[in-house]
Amino acid sequence: LPDKYQGLEKNVWVEFIQLALENKPVNLGQGFPDFAAPDYVTGSLKDVVTGPDVLLNQYTRGFGHPRLIAALSKLYSGFVGRNINGATEIIVTVGAYEALFCSIMGHVNSGDEVIVIEPFFDCYEPMIRLAGGVPRFIPLRPKRKEGVVHASDFVLDEAELESMFNEKTKAIIVNTPHNPLGKVFTADELQTIANLCQKYNCLAIMDEVYEHMVFEGQKHIRMATLPGMWDRTITIGSAGKTFSVTGWKLGWAYGPAELIRNLQVAHQNAIYTCCTPIQDAVARAFELEMSRLSSPECYFNSISVELQTKRDFMVKFLKEAGMVPVIPEGGYFMLANWEPLAPKLLEHLKDEPDPELDYKLVKWMSKHHKLQGIPPSAFYCADHKNLGEKYIRFCFIKEDENLEKAAEILKHLK
Ligand code: PMP
Ligand code: GLN
Repeated sequence: LPDKYQGLEKNVWVEFIQLALENKPVNLGQGFPDFAAPDYVTGSLKDVVTGPDVLLNQYTRGFGHPRLIAALSKLYSGFVGRNINGATEIIVTVGAYEALFCSIMGHVNSGDEVIVIEPFFDCYEPMIRLAGGVPRFIPLRPKRKEGVVHASDFVLDEAELESMFNEKTKAIIVNTPHNPLGKVFTADELQTIANLCQKYNCLAIMDEVYEHMVFEGQKHIRMATLPGMWDRTITIGSAGKTFSVTGWKLGWAYGPAELIRNLQVAHQNAIYTCCTPIQDAVARAFELEMSRLSSPECYFNSISVELQTKRDFMVKFLKEAGMVPVIPEGGYFMLANWEPLAPKLLEHLKDEPDPELDYKLVKWMSKHHKLQGIPPSAFYCADHKNLGEKYIRFCFIKEDENLEKAAEILKHLK
């Protein structure tokens, strides 16, 4: 393994997806829906592939298929309240993963620092290191530990946050709605971050893949809409998340041309162009949704309603199982604090070889109870893993039937 990959061998998805293949558990681990995507989304792909325009099965424009670029520029021009130029201010990528990769590879120089908020989607750290950058980690800390805990109770300490910035800071990565907490950053929280980005002249890389999944009383705010922030913000989205087709692995980034240009250079030297039919099908899906954005039928609205019921059910059964759930405001994951069960469970975990307690718990549960979660310490840096160990992450974009099975398993956990 070349030097640049040394230390990056371990990957939580590789490990736990393999575990799920072996144990065939009720799988609330990796984040994907276990139910069908909307018919018109999958139907569009069929139409594209078998339709009269045979060229839709051939290569398309490298930085994004024209029909999809047109749809994205129309959609996000509306959301951010400015005219987004599809030719220069948007790039289509292989999932949000590649948009993150190109944002980081395209902007981070050797020795540059990138601020990462914990818990963080795990790939941020290896991508920063590969680019030669230095990740600086700051945890969201719960200001309330007893009673009902909401994701909004997890906050950044402002003084601690400012202490992370200096002349070497290139960017901060912010994920809202947040995986795994389900926190939806408030306008005030985003403004605090925006002020620091401006004061220290750095970029905001916004991972907004769960932008349409926000529950009642919550609003997703785009950093790019804050005063002075368009010029220094790259915003990332995902068709997989947006339309419940995670296997399609299509994403994008938008922002000012000078910033997106660097992503284009990274992309053209690695991937060059994404899958044409998938892009055309996603364009058609957006065209339909744009005609009914404020209707309850719009998938962006209906999915949140559907998810909120699932969230509430999961909160209930986690409490009944003796855990303390952190109630999410958006996204489709939930952390549950399992400390109250530790006296009962630790005995079983002693034979599991991993150093982190949550890794032991997830493996034991998958093997012996056929229920799979994800260990949140994977979303913390080496020095902060203890902050994640008392939690387990569950995904709730799953059939009710499977959530009920999980509830039943947890009831009998011993
Ligand atoms: N960011 C976050 C916060 C995620 O949860 C995920 C997982 N889908 C991604 C990025 C990557 O998305 P994609 O599947 O589109 O590559
Ligand atoms: N974003 C999803 C999750 O957090 C999928 C991650 C992945 O496939 N690497 O579960």
